[in-house]
Amino acid sequence: MLTLSGVSKSFELKNGSYPAVRQVSLEVKAASIHGIIGPSGAGKSTLLRLINLLERPDMGTVTVGGKELTALPERQLRRERQKIGMIFQHFNLVGNATVSRNVAIPLELAGVKRGERLKRTAEVLEFVGLADKAQQYPAQLSGGQRQRVAIARALANSPQLLLCDEPTSALDPGTTADILGVLKNINAALGVTIVIVTHELDVVRSICTEVSVMKDGGIVDSFSRGEHEFLPPAGHSGSYRQQIT
Ligand code: ATP
Ligand code: MG
Repeated sequence: MLTLSGVSKSFELKNGSYPAVRQVSLEVKAASIHGIIGPSGAGKSTLLRLINLLERPDMGTVTVGGKELTALPERQLRRERQKIGMIFQHFNLVGNATVSRNVAIPLELAGVKRGERLKRTAEVLEFVGLADKAQQYPAQLSGGQRQRVAIARALANSPQLLLCDEPTSALDPGTTADILGVLKNINAALGVTIVIVTHELDVVRSICTEVSVMKDGGIVDSFSRGEHEFLPPAGHSGSYRQQIT
């Protein structure tokens, strides 16, 4: 569903260039929930932004749903990017717009007509359980509700792929479980492939089907849930693989 091939990205700094992502090749299967874990600064967020080309790779190719995004001219890329949803740790909602308007923004950008926009906005808000909050503002909502709005916004254009950067890191454990339930449902009911960056191993344990471990800009380990029958409790020392499985 998603293929990264030899993707690299360096950032220019005053004293030279810093390689944030180095030669990453990755295959994300359709309808999987693929976790990306690793220490702070490993390049996880940069890798996620390379998938929808919010960052342009210096080298390598990104292919989503059979289309090589890295080969597309800007106009076509914008259209393809509309089919990729993204959510963040701090929700990134527009504060002075209602919930409903927040969700409608990507539909406006995609040129969807008003009637269809209203219908779709109501539909996705219903899906995340916030139909009754449509006319509220983000500041009037809890963290979990704000993330649900962000999820509804990410789903508005019916994406095949949803990118999540630490989506539960600002939430308490109960709310985290709720949001993970929503993500699981999006994957199971809508068949959306999910790539989730997280530092919470419990998140990986509870929803991921595949895991890639990043370190110093590269993928240093990868494994899938099917390889292991049992997931022992948290608190293990040692490698991520040992900790998760
Ligand atoms: P964290 O777990 O703390 O979120 P991360 O794995 O997401 O870390 P990235 O945000 O991808 O890490 O950053 C990887 C490296 O690239 C870091 O050293 C960071 O300082 C650097 N970096 C990221 N974005 C930029 C940028 N726009 N300009 C310069 N350096 C950057
Ligand atoms: Mg990050």
